[in-house]
Amino acid sequence: MGFKTQLIHAGVTPDPETGAILTPVHQSTTFVQESVDEYLSKGYSYSRSANPTVRALEKKLTVLEGGYDCTCYATGMAAIQAVLQSCLSAGEHAVVSDVAYGGTYRLCTKVYERFGVEFTFVDSASPNAVQNAIRDNTRLIFTETPANPTLKLTDIRAVSNIAREKKIPHAVDNTFLTPYYQRPLELGADIVIHSTTKYFDGHNATVGGAVIAGSQNLDEAIRFIQNASGVIMSPWVAWLTLQGTKTLSVRLDRQSANAQEIAEFLESHPKVNMVAYLGLESFEQHELAKSQSDGFGSVISFEVNGGVESGKRVMDSVQLCSLAENLGSVETLITHPATMTHADVEESERKRIGITDGLVRLSVGLEDSIDIIADLDQALRGV
Ligand SMILES: *Cc1c(COP(=O)(O)O)cnc(C)c1O
Repeated sequence: MGFKTQLIHAGVTPDPETGAILTPVHQSTTFVQESVDEYLSKGYSYSRSANPTVRALEKKLTVLEGGYDCTCYATGMAAIQAVLQSCLSAGEHAVVSDVAYGGTYRLCTKVYERFGVEFTFVDSASPNAVQNAIRDNTRLIFTETPANPTLKLTDIRAVSNIAREKKIPHAVDNTFLTPYYQRPLELGADIVIHSTTKYFDGHNATVGGAVIAGSQNLDEAIRFIQNASGVIMSPWVAWLTLQGTKTLSVRLDRQSANAQEIAEFLESHPKVNMVAYLGLESFEQHELAKSQSDGFGSVISFEVNGGVESGKRVMDSVQLCSLAENLGSVETLITHPATMTHADVEESERKRIGITDGLVRLSVGLEDSIDIIADLDQALRGV
């Protein structure tokens, strides 16, 4: 069946007891067992280990990414943590994209390094750089593509080939494109990670995360952590995310069309000196984007003439766009990565990887593009 059909129907069936078309919110801590000998005969014992509403979302996301199975989490960071915990022990090493969500960098450097795990942050746009960073004790390659916030891409096929040769799992944070536009497992990756907070929810209603594993071994190791660390998603969040997922294709197509128009407007604006958007011919990795994904997403990053002061003035003078963290939602959001999403990345590291103080990140929503453009235009007039 087609992807849009799967968005609606995969993983869910009408409730056998009532015919309710929506999966009920199974808001229950525990599940009564038939007998000691028939323990788990219905598949559930306690909602930290598994919950039927969460399971419905896990089954849907498994189909959408083409995985073996999926586990869902309280947040995107909890999902990333489950992958790190299942793959890495003290004395072992991971290769991680140098541009990634700020929280990922913080988790690696401020938490896992304390437990004796080593990280090398590499320019994963270069498969050679990834290859050269691999050591004897490397147990994970973790890339984020497109990367937050500069949109730098990793060639998923090339890095997955290197990973396979070395028998190291390759995990891809696919938050920025979702399986509607990019399916890393089909391109050779082993694990896919999502912050469902972003496009799957799409309405600024929840925080959540998911890990889709390509094999039974990886899924079992990750599922063990979901229970052992107590990081599972709540039933209400799973229910809301199930509903959001159904409209993913419509939202993403519309938001991406808006983003293309807005990126072109910004590129031609005299007060803007740099625009990064996957759909622009001028985007350095536009060809790679076309070869590994079916769409370009709704995130644009740009720099205003006059650097940080001008960028701040634009962010403070928008009226329709909201100055807020998050992306992928129906509302257009504008963010200053250097002080907001990536504040915990050291200044020298930020500069090195292109997160300049003047960089503005725009997540384009579902409003009329003409209104978003008019808002940005009036804000740019003030600089
Ligand atoms: C937001 C985000 C995360 C973290 O997800 P939370 O749900 O905020 O914990 C991880 N990766 C990427 C690419 C993100 O944009």
